[in-house]
Amino acid sequence: MSLKANWNFPTAIRFGAGRIAEVPEALRATGISRPLFVTDSGLAKLPITQETLALLRENGFEVSVFTEVKPNPVSANVAAGVDLLRQARCDGVIAFGGGSGLDVGKVIAFMAGQTRPMWDFEDIGDWWTRADPKGILPIIAVPTTAGTGSEVGRAGVITDETSHTKKVIFHPLMLPRIVILDPELTVGMPRLITVGTGFDALAHCLEAYCGPNYHPLADGVAVEGVRLVLENLPKAVADPHDIEARGHMMSAAAMGATSFQKALGAIHALSQPVGALYDTHHGMTNAVFMPYVLVANRPAIEAKIARLAAYCGLAPSFDAFLDHVLALRQTLGVPHTLPEFRVDAAQRDRIADMAVVDPTAGGNPIKVTREFALAIFDRASEGKI
Ligand code: NAD
Repeated sequence: MSLKANWNFPTAIRFGAGRIAEVPEALRATGISRPLFVTDSGLAKLPITQETLALLRENGFEVSVFTEVKPNPVSANVAAGVDLLRQARCDGVIAFGGGSGLDVGKVIAFMAGQTRPMWDFEDIGDWWTRADPKGILPIIAVPTTAGTGSEVGRAGVITDETSHTKKVIFHPLMLPRIVILDPELTVGMPRLITVGTGFDALAHCLEAYCGPNYHPLADGVAVEGVRLVLENLPKAVADPHDIEARGHMMSAAAMGATSFQKALGAIHALSQPVGALYDTHHGMTNAVFMPYVLVANRPAIEAKIARLAAYCGLAPSFDAFLDHVLALRQTLGVPHTLPEFRVDAAQRDRIADMAVVDPTAGGNPIKVTREFALAIFDRASEGKI
């Protein structure tokens, strides 16, 4: 891909194939000399990671490596990383990975100099103001999936293993100083992760766009993000080496998280409890719920979705967009029902209760009540659109 660009919205982004080579310079620009490199144990073994570490060492950086990051990361992962960071006297973090590695890396950097326990900084009201900003270390973010957009966000999603809930730790200074978006890093993703993360980006853009509050900047970013996913996800899945499609998917992922400052909604309100209770992949869980939530929200979003459909080159109607999403899911092998995804109805009521209080529920265009969440869960269980 010949496209190359520097962007400062919402943070400094270096986009383009091969730009991982700039990671030493990014550290220098950020004033980090002893980085903690945070990734997950699967990625740690891959050549993209080994080559990045070799590059850092050749450039004279003393790097400490932390890999105890599970998918749907838990608070123990953060605690162990903070211990290593303090022992090794690191002065910044390179968060390298999918959303799991990125979130843990960001929260480790945030917790580096805090004295209060992590859950004191949950994203509730203004709890983030409890943090000591001087205790937050700078972060360089390098995504290796194209979905969560965590690289451009000011939050990390960590599971509280005692209550089995996904919680958000937020602070404005958790926004990475420099982001490297290198599509070559995403080429080796397993097919299901390409699909799941692609639908995550789509869910972010879609829920942001459908959110009820006024945020035309986010709306503009979101609609182009949707178009990029619809056009490029099938290409990236069909040919994993299609760097141009991979690049557009990385952009769409960053655009999703940029736009969801406006809102998320019932897709996330339901998928977060399912992910926390069943340890399912976040993006794929969003993909399963997406059409059921679109239909449940239809009375509030019909005209908006028709406009979006037209922008994406489809017939200008809600049904055309819904049909396109359903066909995309089917072509790419997304499970159509919760049982096909190995999610049974045993925790149906608990999931609905958790959805109502999930922080994303408030951004749904229709109020997420227990009945509303149960109806979506039941339709997704039975496969009734
Ligand atoms: P992930 O980070 O959990 O990674 C999934 C799997 O893919 C892992 O096994 C990993 O080793 C592998 N992998 C990643 N990149 C690879 C590559 N290039 N080649 C080969 N294998 C690769 O998956 P994810 O979907 O990116 O992240 C999910 C997490 O992100 C969840 O915990 C979710 O809650 C969180 N999330 C955070 C935000 C946010 O704003 N902070 C937004 C959405 C989701």
